[in-house]
Amino acid sequence: MKAARIVKLNEPLQVQELQTPTPKGTQILVKVQSVGVCHSDVHVWEGYYEGIGGQPLKTTDRGVKYPLTPGHEIAGIVEGLGEQVEGFSKNERVLIYPWIGEGLCPACRIGEENLCDKPRSLGIYTDGGYAQYVLVPSYKYLVKIGNDMDTDTSAPLACAGLTSYGAVKNANLKPDDNVVIVGTGGLGLMAIQLAKAITGAKIIAMDIDDQKLDVASKTVETDMQFLRRRARLVLVGLFGGELKLSLVMMPTRAYKIIGSYTGTLSDLIELVSLAERGVIKPVVSNRFKLEQATEALTMLKDGKILGRGVINP
Ligand SMILES: [Zn+2]
Ligand SMILES: [Zn+2]
Repeated sequence: MKAARIVKLNEPLQVQELQTPTPKGTQILVKVQSVGVCHSDVHVWEGYYEGIGGQPLKTTDRGVKYPLTPGHEIAGIVEGLGEQVEGFSKNERVLIYPWIGEGLCPACRIGEENLCDKPRSLGIYTDGGYAQYVLVPSYKYLVKIGNDMDTDTSAPLACAGLTSYGAVKNANLKPDDNVVIVGTGGLGLMAIQLAKAITGAKIIAMDIDDQKLDVASKTVETDMQFLRRRARLVLVGLFGGELKLSLVMMPTRAYKIIGSYTGTLSDLIELVSLAERGVIKPVVSNRFKLEQATEALTMLKDGKILGRGVINP
């Protein structure tokens, strides 16, 4: 099979010919039809996130190993099944839950594999979907997608959609609450759709124009000034940087700061059901071939992809 792989950081991805895996036991081999291009892929390609004081947080220090096939928003059809797989058959259309844990740590034991201590997330810690086929360790990570949904618009549900959904859930909105959604890019637009559908809160969306991108890194500081008493601030962006916190305002206003990272498998199952009912629809703006993976990442990095970019291997 062909796979577009990160061999050296920041250098063009190499399209390599690899052995197509054979599924065993509970494993399923999925033929990739659509894989979303996510900002996390850019971070994995560059090899770092921005930490405190501009210090890089290296992906290798977080356990990422290269060469790596990136891609964690994967939708496709079942190609091969291990002998212990139940409830799936060949050619079924599926979306993959990529935030796979090792299954044993405290987070995994309560179903929060996305927060595993030893994550095995597809496309980050193990080979992902920038390939013709991807091996999924268990059929439990597959969510069937209905005939009304295509794989291109389903794929982004696995990260962009799930991150938005997780954030809306973590905000724990009550009917009379106001919610301010900062950023009206792909995630922000999905968060608006979801907040509207599943909460009774009043939604206020805000953004800054592209020419003020350096101001974007101060987004959080702006957010802090908005916080009224009892407010919840949910952070999902991975642009990096740091936050100054008033140790007087935090207790006196009794606000909460919540970090939110993707979502659980059951969140994804709920989200796919919401998508099937038309509540949320990711906007796919650009389509690429596997050989154009580097171009896709570069365009995303340069802010030239307005909706979601999808690779069709
Ligand atoms: Zn775990
Ligand atoms: Zn992602």
